Amino acid sequence: MQPFNPLIAFIPGYPPSPARFLARFLPPLAEGVAAHYIGQYSQPGDLILDPFGQAPAVAVEALHLRRRVLVASFNPISRLALSLAVRPPLADELRRALTLLGDTRRDNERLENYVRGLYQTTCADCNTEVSADAFEWEVGELISKTYLCAHCGGPPKTSPASEADQVQAARFTRQRLDYHFLLERVAPLNDPDRPHAQEVLEVYPPRSLAALAACLSKLEALNAERETRRLLAALIVAACDEACPLGPDRPRQLIAPRRYTEINVWLALEKAAPQLTGERGANAGGSVLETTPLATLLAPNRQEGFHAYAGPARDLAAQLPPAVCALLITAFPRPNQAYWTLSAVWSAWLWGRESSATLRAVLRRRRYDWEWHAGGLSRTLTGLRAALTPNGHLIGLLPEAEPGFCAGALIALNRAGFQITGAALRADTAEAQLIAVQSDDSSHPSQAATEAATTNPLPLQTTALEAAQSALRARAEPTRWAHVHFNAWRSLAERRLLAALPDESLGAVNRWLEPVFRDPQHFQRLEAKAEDDLATGLWALPEESEPTASLTDRVELGVWRRLADASPASLHTVEVARALCQMFSGPMTPGQQTVLACLHSYAIEVEPEQWQLRPEDALARRAEEVEELRAQLRALAARHGYAVAVEAEWIEWREADQPVYRFAITASAALGALRLRAEKRARRRFIVLPGSRVALAALKLRRNPGLRLAFLQQNCLLVKFRHLRRMLTDAQLTRATLEPAFAADPPEEAQQLSLMADS
Ligand SMILES: [Zn+2]
Repeated sequence: MQPFNPLIAFIPGYPPSPARFLARFLPPLAEGVAAHYIGQYSQPGDLILDPFGQAPAVAVEALHLRRRVLVASFNPISRLALSLAVRPPLADELRRALTLLGDTRRDNERLENYVRGLYQTTCADCNTEVSADAFEWEVGELISKTYLCAHCGGPPKTSPASEADQVQAARFTRQRLDYHFLLERVAPLNDPDRPHAQEVLEVYPPRSLAALAACLSKLEALNAERETRRLLAALIVAACDEACPLGPDRPRQLIAPRRYTEINVWLALEKAAPQLTGERGANAGGSVLETTPLATLLAPNRQEGFHAYAGPARDLAAQLPPAVCALLITAFPRPNQAYWTLSAVWSAWLWGRESSATLRAVLRRRRYDWEWHAGGLSRTLTGLRAALTPNGHLIGLLPEAEPGFCAGALIALNRAGFQITGAALRADTAEAQLIAVQSDDSSHPSQAATEAATTNPLPLQTTALEAAQSALRARAEPTRWAHVHFNAWRSLAERRLLAALPDESLGAVNRWLEPVFRDPQHFQRLEAKAEDDLATGLWALPEESEPTASLTDRVELGVWRRLADASPASLHTVEVARALCQMFSGPMTPGQQTVLACLHSYAIEVEPEQWQLRPEDALARRAEEVEELRAQLRALAARHGYAVAVEAEWIEWREADQPVYRFAITASAALGALRLRAEKRARRRFIVLPGSRVALAALKLRRNPGLRLAFLQQNCLLVKFRHLRRMLTDAQLTRATLEPAFAADPPEEAQQLSLMADS
């Protein structure tokens, strides 16, 4: 059996550009993550296979590293995105292609003028005729228009839609020829897919359909070379995407929102260029200009090349010789009815009905739950296993790793004969990374094994429980459900306990684990909004004591150390995040927000995303400062006639042998180290810390209900270093004004805390 290392470090990447092609549909895979794994698990010249072809960054980064790259994708629109990423056009080339299309004739005028004319309106101030940039709609009513007026000049204006605008918009009906042209192209009468096409047409504003139909019919008739057609197809898909009003940021269903913007389609074509262009020659020395034929790419002495296979990975697998791929790496796809339907329709518009044949099988399936999804993944992965070299790895990247998706991916890997050797989740950004190898015993599970797995849930239950509890123990702080769930499932897949289960077992495993998670002897749930929903609130172990420092306190120290090591040089956010994920691997993987909060506390952002340790946070300076303040605090006590006792981190002011005030002076926001829960009571307790630490301390209090309760019960107040210094020099202070003076400059966050306590 391969040794497994459950403490694999999560690899943070660089956020992908929000303005990239089809950004709202393609997986938001962070940049540089695929490159890391490709570098670690393959050599230059090796054949790398991405079986799902959803995230173009995988192929691009593999080509950068001079691997041979094979991508399978049955979606022609995703393949177009891939082609653009691998072979990005120049802005000039796009402009020339668009001019060529714009110069074609429609109704005795240039196509560009014809399309712009569909949006004709008049300036509300001077009555000059203009082509509107956009119209605003609400529940089927045309509300307003936005346009540039050449006569008035100035920035774009927005004014209410006029009577004439209403009449103009009403001309575009679903009886028009262009509507039927677009419908027929996807599905003629009696075609079972006709309802899908109609569903898409319903979402678009009718005028957008007229504009798109005009462009598509001219593109078809255009006598242009292949590259020009590729660029025009890309521009039109970008415009089809931009013109399609869908609800949320990452839509999964074809539902138009109540309020939406109808954009000028020609303007959308003109504005699409920036998301399509890239650095020419950035990939593999610019040599990947055309796709390599599959047989050539697979040739034994071949060192480079790229092939996009137009079909499902299962069909490709049947054509691959055994043990040719050093690495399978992919962003696991997740079901997206909106994207799949739009892809089928757009590709039929552009390249005819046949082009979307492979997508149609998916479309007719109306059930897209995780169970079904896991089944599909498992069948594809089973087919691919033989293509992997015996020592080859499979890397699964899940950029939108919600619990059901993770469980589906893990069960699919096990069932397909893979064993998980490492897995990590960063919960706050919902990214997971899975590493797998072929199981030694990857033969189909015996009837007996399947029967044993389905009749005795005990091994699953105990494994999941141990893993979830050990994750909570390692983090030593209240933790979100995503971690508890992920670590439970991860351990099941590591031990191959999911391998022998029959198809459609995801629901069964969930039912078996449910009583384990709901047992208060195993877990404590804090602030759960709904007891029946495991995903709400925070999770902790039932025992009260927290013997180790909380993960957030350890991360704080780690960030400070990393910055101090680099000082005075600066570090990129991702460098710091990677270092911290190395220090705290596997179940401890720290959240992005935690690392950022520590950076804001200890560092100055000298350039965007570049951090430098604050000079005052150098170890020697802070230690000196703390010592000095401790001495001055004792002097202040003496001045007001209090006796002083020191106990661990605390300085106690006493009167008649009774504690009155207790002070802790600390350079960090590690409130856990002050052991507030175990402290005896004093009238008032002051935690004196650098001003730049207050927001971090407040974040910890917000996130940790137990710590917050102790903080409030102990009458704690956060006081900034500089506030204490001001008080030390204040000669007017008396015993009576002393306590109010300490409380006089409460940090904003501390005020919020007291409000929270009241409510
Ligand atoms: Zn005007």
